[in-house]
Amino acid sequence: MRFSQAFIPTLKEVPADAQVASHVFMLRGGYIRKVASGIYSFMPLGMRVLSRIETIVREELDRAGAQEVLMPASVPAELWQESGRWQKYGPELLRFKDRGGADFCFGPTHEEVAVDMVRRETKSYRQLPINLYQIQTKFRDEMRPRAGLMRGREFVMKDAYSFDVDQDAALISYKSMYEAYKRIFARCGLDFRPVEADTGAIGGNLSHEFQVLAETGEDKLVACDSCGYAANVEEAAVRAVTEPAIGGGGDLTKVPTPGAKTIADVCEVLKVDAAQTIKSLVYTADGEPLVVLIRGDRTLNEIALKKLTGATELFLAREGQAEKATGAPVGSIGPAGLSLPIYADLELEGATGVVAGAGEEGMHYTGLDLARDCTITKYVALRIAEEGEGCPRCDGEYKAYQGIEVGHVFSLGTVYSEPMGCTFLDEGGKSQPMVMGCYGIGITRVAAAAIEQNHDEGGIIWPMSIAPYEVTVLPLQMKDDDLIAAAQKLYEELRELGVDVLLDDRNERPGAKFKDADLIGIPLRITIGKRSLGEGNLEMKWRREAEATQLPAEGAAEAITSAIAAEKERIAAI
Ligand code: ATP
Ligand code: MG
Repeated sequence: MRFSQAFIPTLKEVPADAQVASHVFMLRGGYIRKVASGIYSFMPLGMRVLSRIETIVREELDRAGAQEVLMPASVPAELWQESGRWQKYGPELLRFKDRGGADFCFGPTHEEVAVDMVRRETKSYRQLPINLYQIQTKFRDEMRPRAGLMRGREFVMKDAYSFDVDQDAALISYKSMYEAYKRIFARCGLDFRPVEADTGAIGGNLSHEFQVLAETGEDKLVACDSCGYAANVEEAAVRAVTEPAIGGGGDLTKVPTPGAKTIADVCEVLKVDAAQTIKSLVYTADGEPLVVLIRGDRTLNEIALKKLTGATELFLAREGQAEKATGAPVGSIGPAGLSLPIYADLELEGATGVVAGAGEEGMHYTGLDLARDCTITKYVALRIAEEGEGCPRCDGEYKAYQGIEVGHVFSLGTVYSEPMGCTFLDEGGKSQPMVMGCYGIGITRVAAAAIEQNHDEGGIIWPMSIAPYEVTVLPLQMKDDDLIAAAQKLYEELRELGVDVLLDDRNERPGAKFKDADLIGIPLRITIGKRSLGEGNLEMKWRREAEATQLPAEGAAEAITSAIAAEKERIAAI
């Protein structure tokens, strides 16, 4: 493509509402334009990136035995009523009526439609397994669309659905998708971690998110770089401690802490560290009060508490409720003498010398010994895992990361196939519900995540595998016939060799061309200047490197082609 004829409207200014790098550079680089909140058009460069990503996705899913289909974006309400989601799904679901008044939704995900497709055509165990995928525009009326493509309302997703005869067979489908996802994200040049995720309200028992590590990510994770274990902080296991996390012994002593309501206040008044204190939190689990103890500087993992209690409704007690349940004012609640169930975080087992509320207004205990002075119902892991603590699976240490969820694999069991009658006849002629899995990748979010991980102040640094063009050829003096001829020749030769090349033939100053090349982020740049050409050389520069190198003009096209191939191989080998 010649830049002079391309529709690549670059911008010098940072658009007002854009903060994160992917949003800023996609707008400035002429990749996307906003049409409405969370809704974007893709211009030619943006479209090229999406199709690169989609090609990788297609190749890997086809390799894993999945088959591509295309389902409608407009979904009749009946299907969603059958699964029960028409009633349950909140305002994220865009509902509309056709001219006859029939209800529809714009599909935010397609379990129902996929189930309907399969149940109509599949009768026997012999026809299974089936794994179908599509790449399609979804709509979710997100409460807070943000950061451009990162959280849009309309976005492109690859969604896949697997159908198997039983749990064991479904696990094989799950694992093959898991492996395909690893290859997809590696080939996209991303630094990512598959992390164990919460299965949430959908049920099922196995779920992994694929998280791209980036500071602008919304998800908090911990990962061990020694063994590769990674998890959302809410799911992450913590290592059992061999020594109590608070020590020091001493006698139980009541001390005045006037006005101290928070851990920080108590630390200030008593001149102790938060790691010497415990927080006593009152929760109600399905209406029943209980107390949770964690060290003052830790964060409670509510999901772990919910799992422990098995409660469907778990809330931090309101002030009045907490006082009523414990007989102590909030701010001075403590475990000594309480007759409620008390769940203490695992690391508190054997804790002595603790500072905790004394159950009276303006009073705390020092020297509390949990075993001696309290009745603990159970010690159990209840805190959020943090950076620096030991990995529970090996000798390594957790590192904290922020992540962008680019993909999700989920074992669904029979939660859709049962209510929707998606059954088959097993070998014995008995009707059974199919066991399902669902698998999503945010195609547009992958593009954004790749930029979050690969950019500098000047713009994007695309991984070669998903770049809109592999190389840009940049002639510096547009009035020099020899130089133009050399650029033209190289451009033609590269095209002949199957390279995706952008020739910047605009009548612009070199500075402007360099700026745009950096902004757009094409991984390889070939500069043709009068002086070096006189010496028989071109200049070759990788976008991610600071220095350029000389490249003999003779045989340049072949040399560039093999440099691109080597770079692609390097990425795929990760
Ligand atoms: P999130 O927690 O980010 O809202 P989700 O759990 O709702 O994601 P899924 O329903 O599993 O997402 O969708 C599959 C994939 O689609 C996600 O892994 C993500 O990459 C992508 N995705 C989901 N919502 C959006 C969105 N609003 N904008 C862009 N991509 C999205
Ligand atoms: Mg969501």
